[in-house]
Amino acid sequence: VTADAVEAGPQLLVGSPIAKEIRARLRDEMAAFTSAHGRPPTLVVVFVGRDAPSAVYLQQILKSCENVGAAGRVVELAEGCSTDELRQQIRALNDDPTVDGIIVQMPLPEDIPLRGVIDAIDPAKDIDGLHPQNAGLLAEGYDGFLPATAQASVELLKRSGIAIEGRHAVVVGRSNVVGKPAALLLLREHATVTICHSRTKDLAGHTRTADIVIVAAGVPGLITGAMLKLGAVVVDVGINVVDDGIVGDVDFASARSVVGAISPVPGGVGPLTNAILMQHLLVAARGQAGRARA
Ligand code: NDP
Repeated sequence: VTADAVEAGPQLLVGSPIAKEIRARLRDEMAAFTSAHGRPPTLVVVFVGRDAPSAVYLQQILKSCENVGAAGRVVELAEGCSTDELRQQIRALNDDPTVDGIIVQMPLPEDIPLRGVIDAIDPAKDIDGLHPQNAGLLAEGYDGFLPATAQASVELLKRSGIAIEGRHAVVVGRSNVVGKPAALLLLREHATVTICHSRTKDLAGHTRTADIVIVAAGVPGLITGAMLKLGAVVVDVGINVVDDGIVGDVDFASARSVVGAISPVPGGVGPLTNAILMQHLLVAARGQAGRARA
């Protein structure tokens, strides 16, 4: 990328048009499923307590279901519920043949261990790819459910025409939900991948050598223009609620004069994540319908 091209402003990696395309196709496919099976693909979100930001996210998921003709409902457990109660609820949903996908809304209350909860989800209904079986399939290169946000961040690159093969990608963040699976997906696309995290020494030293940077740290403004290579491609996964609204993990103002392409927040990865989740729901519903016939 030349300095002139950078001067013209970066390519914006926007998720909404891609999400719209995915949703249009899904609407037909969901309708076909519904008429063939007498019920729409159905997602249940398990929600514990009353955490305001995650409640907003919950409404978005339900709206995404409605938009494509899937059914979405919420199972709510009271704030003080025990891990056992939550696991029992999940098992009941596993056994319910009218439920295709299960998502447990994060964050969970502090006294409920995440692992014990995720382990309880039937991997065939784990449409956000968090169960160790799905994580293992990803690591080994088999097909399972992928964590939707990680998939969305790589899909955004691919569908925006960004070459990944052979390039140096730096992922900032190593969570099971985003960073780690995003790094594995980039590896699958033949990038050379570096994973950075809170104990990384000289973060800027790493990001400055990257052709592609995916940032999923949850720290507003963590990555500035000075930490990026001229012409780099940046995917900002961060969603941080600040006084002025929602911002990402990248300081957009300083990054935009350096990068070749960047995803805005909001409007980048976010819209694509929910559309991909709906794709997974359809796959899960078809899988379940297939098992019911067998
Ligand atoms: P986590 O808090 O689980 O993980 C954050 C990761 O970032 C950790 O690996 C942590 O390192 C690393 N990190 C934190 N601070 C720094 C730092 N100063 N320097 C380098 N690395 C750092 O968050 P998630 O992975 O769940 O989410 C990340 C972001 O993505 C959040 O802003 C979240 O809101 C957003 N998100 C967006 C979604 C979307 O649809 N767009 C969906 C899901 C999440 P360590 O492991 O050492 O602690």
